[in-house]
Amino acid sequence: YDDRDGKIWMDGKLVEWRDANVHILTHALHYASSVFEGERAYNGKIFKSVEHSERLQRSAKLIDFEVPYSVEEIEAAKYATMEANGLTDAYVRAVAWRGAGEDMGVASAKNPVRFAVAAWEWGNYYGDAKFKGAKLDISKWKRPSPETIPCEAKAAGLYMICTMSKHAAEAKGCSDAMMFDYRGYVAEATGANIFFVKNGEVHTPKADCFLNGITRQTVIGMLKEKGITVNERHIMPEELEGFEQCWLTGTAAEVTPVGQIGDYNFEVGALARDISESYEKLVRS
Ligand code: PMP
Repeated sequence: YDDRDGKIWMDGKLVEWRDANVHILTHALHYASSVFEGERAYNGKIFKSVEHSERLQRSAKLIDFEVPYSVEEIEAAKYATMEANGLTDAYVRAVAWRGAGEDMGVASAKNPVRFAVAAWEWGNYYGDAKFKGAKLDISKWKRPSPETIPCEAKAAGLYMICTMSKHAAEAKGCSDAMMFDYRGYVAEATGANIFFVKNGEVHTPKADCFLNGITRQTVIGMLKEKGITVNERHIMPEELEGFEQCWLTGTAAEVTPVGQIGDYNFEVGALARDISESYEKLVRS
C-alpha cells in the first residue's frame, strides 16, 4: 500500500502518499502505542463518522495518550483526505500513535503524538464469501481478559494474535478465524463481530472482552426494529452445533454470512441475507 499516487493527511496537512513515512525509532513500532479506526464512506458520507472519531479518542485515552485533535478536526481531516483523493465510496483509516522523540524506553510521555488519515477504495473484505458464506477456522488464540489489556480500545496491540490467527486460517483455505475468549466462550472473528440464529432468535456474544463494534450495535438495532429477539450472552463452544445461521459484522466486513466454522456448517439463510441487504440500504440512505 505504500507505493501509490494520492495524498495522506499527516499531522495537520496533506502530504504525498509515498512521503507519509515515520522514523524507525517510532515508539508505536516498538511498543504498540497506536490506536486506529476503520470506517467506510458511501456516496460521499462516512457511516457513523462522529462515532468513529469519538472511539479513536477514547481508544487513545485507554492506552494513555490524547489524540491532539478535536472530533471536529478529525472529521475535517477525514473528509479532506477523501476529497484530495477524489473518493466518494472509500475505506477510511485514521491512526494515532506515539512517535519518535526523547524517549526510547517503554515510557513515552515525552514523545509527540502523531495522527494520520488515509483513504482508498476497498471492495468486499471477504470477497465472494459475502454471497456464498465465509469459511472460518477456529483460532488457538484467545481474546484476553479485561484485566490483561484494555479490550474496548481499538488498539494495535490487540491485533497481534488476530494477525497470527488469520494467517493460520488462510493457510487452511479459510477467510478468517473465530476466536474464543479467555474463559472459553465464543468471542469474535479477527476483525469482525459474530452473530448466530436459532429458532428465529438471534444470539451474539456479550461484548465484555472485545470490541463492541459500531456495526454490531447498528445490526442489533436493526434486528430489534424488525421485532427479532436478540440475546447478548455468553455462548459456549458446544452450542455452535445447534445454530442454523451465522454472520459477521464490521465496518470492512459489513454483514457477511458465514457458511462454516471448523467442522460446523450453517446455511446462508433468509435472515442473514435480509440483514446483509438491510445494512447495505441503511449505509447508503
Ligand atoms: N472486532 C474487531 C477485532 C475489529 O477489528 C472490528 C473492526 N473494527 C470489529 C470487531 C467490528 O467493529 P466495527 O463494527 O466498529 O467496525
